[in-house]
Amino acid sequence: MSYITNLKCRECGQEYPISPLHVCETCFGPLEITYDYARIRAAISRKLIESRPHNLWRYRELLPVDSEPEAGPFSGFTPLVHAKRLGAELGLKNLYIKDDTVNHPTLSYKDRVVSVAITKAREFGFTTVSCASTGNLATAVAAHAARANLKCYIFMPEGVESGKIVGSTIYGAQVITIRGNYDDVNRLCSEIADKYGWAFVNINLRPYYTEGAKTFGFEVAEQLGWKLPDHIVIPTAGGTILPKVAKAFKELKEVGLIKDTNFKIHSAQAEGSAPVIHALHKRTDLIEPVKPNTIAKSIAIGNPADGYYVLKAVRESGGWGDVASDPQIIDAIKLLARTEGIFAEPAGGTTLAVTKKLIEQGRIKRDETVVVGITGNGYKTLEAVANAIEQPVIIEARLKEFDSLFERLENGKREIAGAA
Ligand SMILES: *Cc1c(COP(=O)(O)O)cnc(C)c1O
Repeated sequence: MSYITNLKCRECGQEYPISPLHVCETCFGPLEITYDYARIRAAISRKLIESRPHNLWRYRELLPVDSEPEAGPFSGFTPLVHAKRLGAELGLKNLYIKDDTVNHPTLSYKDRVVSVAITKAREFGFTTVSCASTGNLATAVAAHAARANLKCYIFMPEGVESGKIVGSTIYGAQVITIRGNYDDVNRLCSEIADKYGWAFVNINLRPYYTEGAKTFGFEVAEQLGWKLPDHIVIPTAGGTILPKVAKAFKELKEVGLIKDTNFKIHSAQAEGSAPVIHALHKRTDLIEPVKPNTIAKSIAIGNPADGYYVLKAVRESGGWGDVASDPQIIDAIKLLARTEGIFAEPAGGTTLAVTKKLIEQGRIKRDETVVVGITGNGYKTLEAVANAIEQPVIIEARLKEFDSLFERLENGKREIAGAA
């Protein structure tokens, strides 16, 4: 049974039937799903949700599908890690990592949105799925399409990490790289979607796809014992996940699953691709596109489709946002790995680096509950840190060699400790 009623233009309010449409024919505003919240409120409870399998479909009444979900049986419900060692370094008692580095099956937050998009593509009867991607979406679409027996074409800008190329092609998808940046790829894909009639998960299926991102927020609230954090820090690329996390928190209240409504949501961008943060800091709604240049390639979108809604959600919540430079991103990746044993990709480094800044700026206080959204896995972006780590030592297989090496290493540490 479905609880979705319509597609509705976010700008002019015009309604459309549920179909593979994403922009308003009258005003070109983005379309969004509407739900029958009164019926959902009557149908669900904490107990019912808690009785379900640990995947994102435990919140299915709040997701835009009609059928039994065919994709993502193991996607979502990733750990919320109480980060005590990292918290101690940053001076926070209640610091949590929402860890989508271990999302199933492709190790990023994109497994959530794609689970919903692929289920919807099957419902609409599409046989080919496609996407414009900075990398993680590509791997997720390719993997979920394989399992759903759909043909798959992937479009990415040239220069994405090899983990993203190999990690898409391996599933049997046709990968095409484009001479240009993500925004060039996206423009081309809009034309292909029109001409070829394929399901582009982030173009004509966008209203459905983006709803999957709410599950990140639903889970955080459930895992905190049906409470909202005081702060949540979320990376921004195209601007899907951040407003959807804010929407998720509001929906939980709307359907009676939580009582509190106060939270501050903060946006994190890489300095080399920060159009939304620039607008936030300038206190304007006008987002000026930039040409991305950062190691955080998965969030390098210079002209974010939903940037305006990021600004809106951040401001409504009383949140803020900041940028992280490439060296700050690398330092934060190392800090998270060293303290919590979690290896994030540069998007995660960006979020943690920005969290540190927000603490330093006094916007996040010591005793408040803070969730850092870590959305992608570092094993997929090894080249980002390969030159920033100590290289392994090579020795002969002789105990004597190790003895002298060990002595040198220990002395080295004492010298460093002495100097500090
Ligand atoms: C896609 C992505 C994001 C966020 O992108 P939005 O378009 O803003 O939703 C964040 N982190 C990683 C690792 C991603 O792949």
